[in-house]
Amino acid sequence: MQKFDGRSAVVTGGAQGIGAAVARALVDAGIRVLIGDLDDDEGKRLAESLGEHARYRHLDVTDAKDWRAALEESDEELGPLAILVNNAGIVDFHGVADEWPAQFRHVLDVNLYGPWLGMHSAAPILRRNGGGAIVNISSTAGLTGYSGLGGYVASKWGLRGLTKAAALDFAEDGIRVCSVHPGPIRTPMTAGLGEEIVTSQPIPRFGDPAEVAAMVRFVALEATYSTGSEFVVDGGATAGSVAISKGPNIR
Ligand code: NAP
Repeated sequence: MQKFDGRSAVVTGGAQGIGAAVARALVDAGIRVLIGDLDDDEGKRLAESLGEHARYRHLDVTDAKDWRAALEESDEELGPLAILVNNAGIVDFHGVADEWPAQFRHVLDVNLYGPWLGMHSAAPILRRNGGGAIVNISSTAGLTGYSGLGGYVASKWGLRGLTKAAALDFAEDGIRVCSVHPGPIRTPMTAGLGEEIVTSQPIPRFGDPAEVAAMVRFVALEATYSTGSEFVVDGGATAGSVAISKGPNIR
């Protein structure tokens, strides 16, 4: 395991869903965690429940000032910054023909520009601290296409590519950069989606945020020979469809 004891992490979009589970997993692993989000009430509640090694701060990932303040607070008050988890993300259920230009741009702003701004702002601090790990939460929508999700798919493929570019840029600084690609996970983001979307997966259920958090923890702390790499947590969805392979008339 990488020696990050007494050091700190920033987790964006950490008030609920996958980000909250990641914050919990990192605190359990001995890391001090600054949770950033737009949802201040939920974020403060979570930080209090995690104890003295967690704190909350408002962090809109599209805002450079917010990034500077959050990264400095984490580095100076919690412990030298070692980990950044770019988790904040939004979804917009519109296809290419139906999505408004402003909606498309907003999804790219939060899901792609946000992580870029985070890495851009954190790199000098991580470099000064002798290295670290950045984990970007992409999606299976960064590995394949989906209908009705044009902006989201574009943003998650973009983040997957940006991860590789950053891994190469930061290699000499000892900063590893990897992407994690969840499939359908039960969080507020997927509250409106029914079980039918998972029935043909090899593991035919929604994932739990803790199952993604376990992967993020592994990538951040233990995957010391991995950078620019993709880690999939999708119930086997990208392996193929079990329903089709079981079809009676298909040879
Ligand atoms: P979620 O339940 O919607 O939680 C996301 C959190 O991010 C919310 O608290 C949200 O705050 C916050 N947020 C939104 N815009 C932000 C911004 N500009 N700056 C900072 N925080 C912001 O989402 P989730 O399901 O946990 O997803 C987390 C990440 O995993 C996302 O990147 C998502 O694309 C990815 N992912 C999720 C799934 C899934 O099935 N759930 C699958 C693949 C990938 P508000 O609620 O106030 O907007």
